[in-house]
Amino acid sequence: MARTYLVETYGCQMNVHDSERIAGLLDAAGHIPVQAGEQADIVVFNTCAVRENADNKLYGNLSFLAPIKKANPSLQIAVGGCLAQKDQATILKKAPYVDVVFGTHNVGSLPVLLERARIEEESQIEILEALEHFPSTLPARRFSAFTAWVSISVGCNNTCTFCIVPTLRGVEKDRESEDILNEVSALVDQGVIEITLLGQNVNAYGVEAGKKGAFAQLLREVGAINGLERIRFMSPHPRDFTDDVIEAMVETPNVMPHLHMPLQSGSDAILQTMRRSYRTEKYLGILDRVRTALPHAMITTDIIVGFPGETEEDFQGTMDIASKAEFAAAYTYKYSIRPGTPAGIMPNQVDEKVVGERYTRLHEHLQKISLTVNQRAIGTTHRVMVNEIEGRRDGDRGRITGRSEDFRLVHFEPIEGVRPGDFVDVEITEASAHYLIGNPLKVTATRGGDAFEARNKESSGPAPTMLGIPTVKS
Ligand code: SF4
Repeated sequence: MARTYLVETYGCQMNVHDSERIAGLLDAAGHIPVQAGEQADIVVFNTCAVRENADNKLYGNLSFLAPIKKANPSLQIAVGGCLAQKDQATILKKAPYVDVVFGTHNVGSLPVLLERARIEEESQIEILEALEHFPSTLPARRFSAFTAWVSISVGCNNTCTFCIVPTLRGVEKDRESEDILNEVSALVDQGVIEITLLGQNVNAYGVEAGKKGAFAQLLREVGAINGLERIRFMSPHPRDFTDDVIEAMVETPNVMPHLHMPLQSGSDAILQTMRRSYRTEKYLGILDRVRTALPHAMITTDIIVGFPGETEEDFQGTMDIASKAEFAAAYTYKYSIRPGTPAGIMPNQVDEKVVGERYTRLHEHLQKISLTVNQRAIGTTHRVMVNEIEGRRDGDRGRITGRSEDFRLVHFEPIEGVRPGDFVDVEITEASAHYLIGNPLKVTATRGGDAFEARNKESSGPAPTMLGIPTVKS
């Protein structure tokens, strides 16, 4: 029986990519996506256990749905993702009207569990401790016609004390390179021109199996796929970052000059208690070598402020590294206790007010650094891939937004005929901490635009709604 569905996602890129699979599975089961605000017969929450407010958001949304479900018992509610894997039965205790709770290892079971819950009129809970299928073998409804994420591994072998991912996603499992290459080739055949290789620690790819240099090799092999314009990857871990990856970045022209490498703290003492097995010197050394090999590369990062035991001196270390590293952008997080993590029971938690105050200082400092980095782009020309064309309002000409090769957001005035997926050379005229503004010079390719048009014609309904904001993790 065809029914409508809505997927709401919290958390990182992994979750956003999992939501594409959830949507693909529901499509394959004959269901139809609807936009947020429209009535859906099935609502799926793909949850996160890492972000502080993801559980508040989930339980808030479940409470909102409670009276709707009471009035319309045929509405089905499913909760999956990391929080479901962690809280399991708690979700049903707090919201007994939820129909299905499924974990991170059995996304593929969702359609069956929904059907079973409907027929048996009973909530279904199924959480597996290990992976059933490598998720990329499941169908997916991609949220973009010309960009795609491709998982190269799931899970993580590290034990960062603030992180629940290894507990929830298990030890690292790498996908066969042949499967990855086949998936990328199939995506390119469908019109995809940019892919992002995803893993919690991409540099560890192949290491367990003794395949030294496997990630660098993978970059080269993916880079050789005809028609693929852009390759990105996320996230490398400084511990496993090796120079052969830099060489592969230099020698593979379609690997983009952008490195998102989590720093987390600029204090060696805090890195040690975080169980991040690199020190600031190593981190800065990697950046130096990347910049020597790729002088125009942009570096972005993740930083946690107020980890247990962080002193003012430790915090100053983070401020100093931020200046030295010249991050083009940084995703900063206030540390907060995540139940189930070793850091959550450390005795020396930092006072919330102090954390807030340091967060504000760091944020302002990083803004200034990003602005300085972005101002250097004024007068240069960037090849921008168009993501979005904003509509024109009265008296407003609208604008086009895209990403430069080094992953900066670029806005420019509309030009006739440009579509998402096109490439436009843009001369940068203005800069802010978060974006660049420029004049379009010429459209340099239209392959993605053609794919977008074709996909729009084929599409049987709107892409599943993403209410959560995708952010960077690891
Ligand atoms: S923070 Fe990243 S590297 Fe560390 S345990 Fe979590 S997923 Fe693994």
